[in-house]
Amino acid sequence: MLLENKSVIITGASRGIGAAAALECARQGANVVIGYSGSESSRPLVKDLIAEIESLGRKAVEVGAPAGDPDTGDKLVKAAVDAFGGVDVFVNNAGICPFHSFLDMPRETYLETVNTNLNGAYFAVQAAANRMKDQGRGGAIIAVSSISALVGGGMQTHYTPTKAGLLSLMQSCAIALGPYGIRCNAVLPGTIETDINKEDLADQEKRDYMIGRTPLGRLGRPEDMGGPIVFLASDMAQYVTGASLLVDGGMFVNLQ
Ligand code: NAP
Repeated sequence: MLLENKSVIITGASRGIGAAAALECARQGANVVIGYSGSESSRPLVKDLIAEIESLGRKAVEVGAPAGDPDTGDKLVKAAVDAFGGVDVFVNNAGICPFHSFLDMPRETYLETVNTNLNGAYFAVQAAANRMKDQGRGGAIIAVSSISALVGGGMQTHYTPTKAGLLSLMQSCAIALGPYGIRCNAVLPGTIETDINKEDLADQEKRDYMIGRTPLGRLGRPEDMGGPIVFLASDMAQYVTGASLLVDGGMFVNLQ
């Protein structure tokens, strides 16, 4: 019960890493605001997730709103305040990675990726931080960045700068928000099997290569992210801020 009665907001929680993190937070005693895009196709997933959280004896509410909209953070915070009385933890996880080559990158793809992954995160973190400051009891903010914040990707030239940006945002916010007891950290997943990389990993050769690069000998599962996110959200990490935690099965350090 590391997060007993905490109010947690997680963006991009309809599926993948966000959904796994939402469930783990609930298992640890938190009530959760489930952020997602609001798409029709994801609504049933959100309903199922809410039911699963409720079956654990916790509460969950949903907010369907585009991550890139600067007002979305305010909506997420309002939902948490209305349903659970405040915000203790904000996890910025929503993100897209439409793999594309650099020389012919469509401008819309670049702009949408930066807007969804980074611009929206900036305003959402700001909204959550203001609420936490007003509450006066500190808080924890976690950005789901990526191993791609540290290394490049030829088909991800639009994506990797957003992940480096999120890491940098957490470092700067750790300084800006430390005086209010608000801790800001980043998790850097390696390759976690979700919808975001389904097509990429359908290529067996690529898949085998990625597994071969990973000392722990397998790709990541969304559940692998739950523990690290809960840890950074909890008082177990009470003196951890401005930090980044690779969760990659050792992929980053495996140069040869
Ligand atoms: P995923 O399964 O595709 O889930 C993406 C989530 O983001 C969904 O909940 C989706 O909501 C939400 N989302 C996407 N566009 C949105 C928008 N415009 N507005 C609001 N919500 C939006 O991907 P994932 O792998 O779990 O990725 C989660 C985060 O982890 C991303 O930031 C990604 O960059 C990061 N990450 C993933 C990996 C990996 O290997 N999987 C590695 C490093 C970092 P809808 O269902 O409504 O579309």
